[in-house]
Amino acid sequence: MATMEYREIGCTDLRVSILGFGAAPLGNAYGETNPEDATRAVHHAIHQGINFFDVSPYYGLTLAEERLGVALKGHRNEVVLMTKCGRYGLDNFDFSAARLHHSIDESLTRLRTDHVDILLAHDIEFGDMQQILEETIPALRKIQQQGKTRYIGVSGLPLGVLKQAVETKLLDVVLSYCRYNLMIQDLDRYLTPVAKKLNVGLINASPLHMGMLTKSGAPDWHPAPQALKKVSHDAFEYCQKLGGSLPEVALRFALDYLPVASTLVGMRSVAEVDRNLKTVASTNDPALLEAVQHVIGSMMNRTWPSGRLENSDALLLGIPQS
Ligand code: NAD
Repeated sequence: MATMEYREIGCTDLRVSILGFGAAPLGNAYGETNPEDATRAVHHAIHQGINFFDVSPYYGLTLAEERLGVALKGHRNEVVLMTKCGRYGLDNFDFSAARLHHSIDESLTRLRTDHVDILLAHDIEFGDMQQILEETIPALRKIQQQGKTRYIGVSGLPLGVLKQAVETKLLDVVLSYCRYNLMIQDLDRYLTPVAKKLNVGLINASPLHMGMLTKSGAPDWHPAPQALKKVSHDAFEYCQKLGGSLPEVALRFALDYLPVASTLVGMRSVAEVDRNLKTVASTNDPALLEAVQHVIGSMMNRTWPSGRLENSDALLLGIPQS
């Protein structure tokens, strides 16, 4: 088994591997994933010490949960399982208490378990923040009291709404994505200090900027502006020219960010799991890292709009949007 490090998530009693398994690719978010490959990847990950799995009914419109549920048969007790609720399609959101109560039951059926460890409201920037704070979060607590989840939290892209949710002191966990990796690090300025102060567990997702920092580049649905996609492609080529591998440099960079309990990477094959496990045991060459960051240059720390205008970082935090 590879040497794995584990950290506690905030004030919970959950200890998770610093490399977490993101299951979005199991729902074909990054091209067709063969179901047997998916199962093998999950089993291999568990065998090698990865114990943290993240999924959502949104990924592949329930396919990822279904596939993860199949793969976890007989392994449920070996993993910390996180799923989400409130997002059910590209433009399909329902953060009402009634929908959330059905949603968790549907997720538990697909995941073939009687409880998850963490349940998150998914992409809260698409909701009405008054509803999120006054109806959604209390509904998550109710679901927790019913024993269907051990802990609760929220996820999203803009940091202002995540900060607002954390400041209610009603959450155990917050998941941020595409805000701390080689292309951007503003998580550290806007969310990490408050999460730390209130001891809310911080999870960082998408260290490869949702595929942008890989050879295949950003998938068609990736919302980043073209200029960002181009610079990440240039960075990939330059890193390769210098004898490096950008996904490895990028993952190592994210793993070096210690305030987070775990870094979630989307994985869909045994080979990818192995490559990422190797990175856990590696260090970045500072000269290579600097050279790659130099290519990113002024495109560093750019993001894109997500969700309702009133929930944007432009309005809540004054961060310019690309
Ligand atoms: P990511 O940045 O982890 O990139 C995933 C892509 O990189 C996939 O195509 C994968 O096959 C590929 N990949 C993985 N390891 C590789 C390697 N070593 N070499 C080359 N390619 C490699 O993006 P992601 O999957 O979107 O994010 C990680 C996980 O975080 C998701 O699967 C999901 O579980 C979670 N997430 C949650 C939210 C949210 O709650 N709103 C948003 C984004 C991600």
